[in-house]
Amino acid sequence: MKDLYLLFSNYLSSDEIIDDATKIDSLLRDKRGRFYGRADIVLQPSSVESVKIIVKLCNQYAISITPQGGNTGLCGGAVPDGGVLLSMSRLNRIIKISPDDNSITVEAGATLYQVQQAALAVDRFFPLSLASEGSCQIGGNIACNAGGINVLRYGTMRALVLGLEVVLPDGSVVSHLSPLYKNTTGLDIQQLFIGSEGTLGVITAATLKLFNQPLETQTLWAACNNIEQCIELFHFLQKQSSGSLKSFELIGKNALLISLNDLQQKSPIEDDENNWHILCELEKYISIDSLPESLYKNGFRNIIFAQNDTQSKQWWRLRENISEAQKRYGVSIKHDIALPIGNLSDFISENSRHLQDLYPEIQLVVFGHLGDGSLHYNVFLQDMLDDRVYQHEDAINQLVYQDVFVHQGTCAAEHGIGLLKRNWLGNMKTSQELSLMCAIKQQLDPKNIMNPNKVYP
Ligand SMILES: Cc1cc2nc3c(=O)[nH]c(=O)nc-3n(C[C@H](O)[C@H](O)[C@H](O)COP(=O)(O)OP(=O)(O)OC[C@H]3O[C@@H](n4cnc5c(N)ncnc54)[C@H](O)[C@@H]3O)c2cc1C
Repeated sequence: MKDLYLLFSNYLSSDEIIDDATKIDSLLRDKRGRFYGRADIVLQPSSVESVKIIVKLCNQYAISITPQGGNTGLCGGAVPDGGVLLSMSRLNRIIKISPDDNSITVEAGATLYQVQQAALAVDRFFPLSLASEGSCQIGGNIACNAGGINVLRYGTMRALVLGLEVVLPDGSVVSHLSPLYKNTTGLDIQQLFIGSEGTLGVITAATLKLFNQPLETQTLWAACNNIEQCIELFHFLQKQSSGSLKSFELIGKNALLISLNDLQQKSPIEDDENNWHILCELEKYISIDSLPESLYKNGFRNIIFAQNDTQSKQWWRLRENISEAQKRYGVSIKHDIALPIGNLSDFISENSRHLQDLYPEIQLVVFGHLGDGSLHYNVFLQDMLDDRVYQHEDAINQLVYQDVFVHQGTCAAEHGIGLLKRNWLGNMKTSQELSLMCAIKQQLDPKNIMNPNKVYP
């Protein structure tokens, strides 16, 4: 630590080296408290120049670097195992916002909320939206190819990035912060870094797409008996709304109960018969005015429309509170899975049976972004609501992931691989794809200094 302090203090200002033990402790711990890392030094650069210097020195002395954004990732990807922990929080400026080009250029440490607000201030909309948006950073969102509630209409982060600036493992910079929406000039290099989880370089800035603010939005709450009914409603709404369906969120009965109890609220539709609830949002077009009647005529019941913004916000609060409410309820084995929409129903019924065979006391908490096929699929054992449940993690993961793969799904829908799912990567990529990934990593980072021991099996 002392040697590294001497090395870096020659080049960085004192406020770029963190020495506050409490702060360091919080940066070493991941959001879920599942991983606690160690770092030889914690650096917080305030300019791209400083990032370049840090990476160059790390390359020269073969010191590992773990980039860290808001530290809200749920797979241990930002937890260091020695070397430099590189906190990006100070690189948080909005560089340029251009409503004419529908683009915004920001430093990578800007929080997602900061970007949403900057867009709003010029009457534009940045559509990425996650429950962690107050703390997660654009660099982290890009490094994990974040998803969230509006993927259905606007795509994942991959579809929202126009240009990137990245400091490569040798300390050189590749910068193409262009607001061009079209640019067909050979390989799209920047796509390599989206979803690379800090293993190929440090993202320092990005140019992102902006959209017009939707004129008005309409929020719906529906209660359904089974997943098939939810999917039927999904396809109906998608057709009726000519692509203006923005989010379509599934909330299982257990997930809803946990959130309702936590917030001391009543369910928007009180009906014990229904195991599944849907919360969705449409951007308003004229055709939506006839939607209630059209839903009724087509046999869809138990659907209510939010009467005003306050009610809509109250419903979304129920959805967004699920993660925090679960934390207060107990410890679970969490899964971030995605399946083809047509396979969701079979997967849930088969897998809950398989889990119940082994663990009769199981409580499944299922919720997530049904519209794009991704679910948070969390397994509680009712007599083990604390860390003891982790003794069963491997067995539960085996059962869940085996069924996920049988139904052509993935066990890393939107949170990435990090430390947590490295051993499963081979189930989701072909050996040719894995070889290509390793060859690219080797080419860009031959000394393996960038976030070592993450992602790659
Ligand atoms: C309550 C809650 C809800 C969530 N909901 C969603 C959701 O709906 N959808 C979703 O996709 N995710 C969700 N997440 C997960 C998480 O918020 C996202 O993955 C987010 O994109 C991570 O951003 P971060 O800045 O916190 O990254 P970190 O956790 O700091 O880092 C994540 C990874 O990115 C790398 N990294 C970070 N910054 C950089 C950089 N500048 N350059 C290179 N690599 C970098 C790190 O090394 C690490 O591997 C949720 C998390 C929480 C706690």
